[in-house]
Amino acid sequence: MPGLFAIGDINTYPGKLKLILSGFHEAALMAQKAYHYVYPQKRLVFQYTTSSTSLQKKLAWRDHAEDHLHRTRRHRAHGRGGDRLDGDGDRAAQ
Ligand SMILES: Cc1cc2nc3c(=O)[nH]c(=O)nc-3n(C[C@H](O)[C@H](O)[C@H](O)COP(=O)(O)OP(=O)(O)OC[C@H]3O[C@@H](n4cnc5c(N)ncnc54)[C@H](O)[C@@H]3O)c2cc1C
Repeated sequence: MPGLFAIGDINTYPGKLKLILSGFHEAALMAQKAYHYVYPQKRLVFQYTTSSTSLQKKLAWRDHAEDHLHRTRRHRAHGRGGDRLDGDGDRAAQ
């Protein structure tokens, strides 16, 4: 059915593996297909979160990373260590 997309265990096709990672891969494929379906005239610009600053900004990832870097440098400048991990695995300033 055109315009209906499915990911995960609900899918069946030759070689299908019912694994979590298969669902994630199918999600990426689905997002690309859906983009072309919704915007048939537009060109899809494929980007990586590791190298695309615009994606990092959209995900508010870059601001967080820069803020973390500034805080770490400030602590080091004051003779304190960097950040340490607290009990939950989150970073907490020393
Ligand atoms: C015992 C077991 C161990 C596994 N171990 C691993 C592993 O180690 N590594 C790995 O990668 N994969 C593992 N898997 C496979 C993995 O769990 C599945 O591939 C993955 O969970 C599929 O995700 P999904 O979102 O497609 O489906 P599901 O996780 O099945 O989610 C579907 C959801 O839809 C809900 N639902 C169903 N019908 C309706 C409805 N009509 N209306 C509303 N909601 C509905 C269900 O209740 C369910 O919550 C394991 C599977 C099993 C059974």
